[in-house]
Amino acid sequence: LEGYRTEGSLTLGDVFIAVKTTKRFHQSRMELLLDTWISRARKQTYVFTDEEDDALRRRMGDHAIFTNCSAEHSHLALSCKMAAEFNAFLASGRSWFCHLDDDNYLNPRALLKLLSSYSATWDVYLGKPSLNRPIWASEMLPNNQTKSVRFWFATGGAGFCISHKLASKMVPWASGRNFLSTAELIRLPDDCTVGYIIECKVGGQLLPSALFHSHLENLQLIPPSQLTQQVTLSYGVFENKLNVIELNGPFSPQEDPSRFRSLHCHLYPDTSWCLQAAGW
Ligand code: UDP
Ligand code: MN
Repeated sequence: LEGYRTEGSLTLGDVFIAVKTTKRFHQSRMELLLDTWISRARKQTYVFTDEEDDALRRRMGDHAIFTNCSAEHSHLALSCKMAAEFNAFLASGRSWFCHLDDDNYLNPRALLKLLSSYSATWDVYLGKPSLNRPIWASEMLPNNQTKSVRFWFATGGAGFCISHKLASKMVPWASGRNFLSTAELIRLPDDCTVGYIIECKVGGQLLPSALFHSHLENLQLIPPSQLTQQVTLSYGVFENKLNVIELNGPFSPQEDPSRFRSLHCHLYPDTSWCLQAAGW
């Protein structure tokens, strides 16, 4: 029955959601995600980190995956986690793979709505283009020469999704240890490597979506009335300033600096701690 799906019948159970994190963010970032959107997508969400942590294990059980990747911000360490995510997705047999950073808010309903307009039996790579033009890179050739390659890629910090069909075509470059050797060929970050595999090796292409957001864009520019339709949001520092979405309450910026708790209450007002929040 795989692939025999009519429009609208997609459920969250068809999606494999991978969140990349690292030990030092388990408390400061993961707790917030677990309290908010992950609580609405618990069965679908897996967290990929680098060090054992009883607190995270207690909250996530076997959905906390302790990779043997090093806790560094190096290309290799990050590619090691992307490889672990990709392999776990392939083993899951699910229809869609979605990658997120630990400073992303994912709106499960908006994600399902977006994915429902495609089929996992097509080649689909959805995300926010990292640049407004393709990136040029030099690919190492076996004879020690290099070749210029050009491709689009989705910025990992905004999250991206890949259909099962496309992922299965990526296997020769992305599964097992192959992702790391492919990353070595262009020596760029993991999200670039994903774009490189899809566009230069498989012949697919990035479908740009305006519904994915990273903190590398000015998040204040998203109209508050449209926040609940976005697939991903983020928070962080941009040009030395705190970059967060613009949203009034129910929590104050002091109580909820990322604004994720407030957003979550707009999306899921039946959440117990939303009902208790000031004025609700
Ligand atoms: N990260 C990681 N290992 C590190 C540093 C960061 O796995 O040593 C993860 C982090 O948890 C997040 C992503 O990489 O999911 C991006 O990190 P961050 O948001 O700190 O940096 P950015 O690139 O967005 O400035
Ligand atoms: Mn970030």
